[in-house]
Amino acid sequence: MRIALFPGSFDPITIGHFDILQRAKTMFDRIYVGIGKNSSKQCMFTLEERMAFLHTCFEGDAQISITQYEGLTVNYCKQIEAQFILRGLRSDTDFEYEKNIAQINKEVVPEVETLFMVCSPAYSAVSSTIVKDIKRNGGDISRYIPKPLIGII
Ligand code: ADP
Repeated sequence: MRIALFPGSFDPITIGHFDILQRAKTMFDRIYVGIGKNSSKQCMFTLEERMAFLHTCFEGDAQISITQYEGLTVNYCKQIEAQFILRGLRSDTDFEYEKNIAQINKEVVPEVETLFMVCSPAYSAVSSTIVKDIKRNGGDISRYIPKPLIGII
């Protein structure tokens, strides 16, 4: 069974994350979407809210499991028996950042491979940060979030 962990803050999940997950479903038997609780990032939405958004997006989808974890991502992979960490790439900045983490993770736990998926061109400018900025300023975020969340976030 091919199991992947898609880790992130998901503050909130965007159409870009959603797109990566839909495309990744052809490659894995199960994907855990995991909110890492050790992030030093200041979040706009609480952990409970972010988990609820994810549950709403993937309700009834047997291939996707929503979860949260503390500590090192690679250690959590061992716990859930995930052989892969899935990450999305939007730019060369994402790549440089992700490459370092992937290389260190490989040293720490060699049996876990990090796989990158290049984002769809339509979503390369979409980020949780932009969604939050628009939301804070009273703008319309509906085109940047998964359909099931329109009117909820
Ligand atoms: P983190 O705090 O770990 O960066 P995020 O929730 O911001 O978590 O992102 C989780 C993953 O989704 C990362 O691999 C990130 O590069 C990817 N991602 C973010 N936005 C997009 C997008 N628009 N298209 C594709 N991948 C994306």
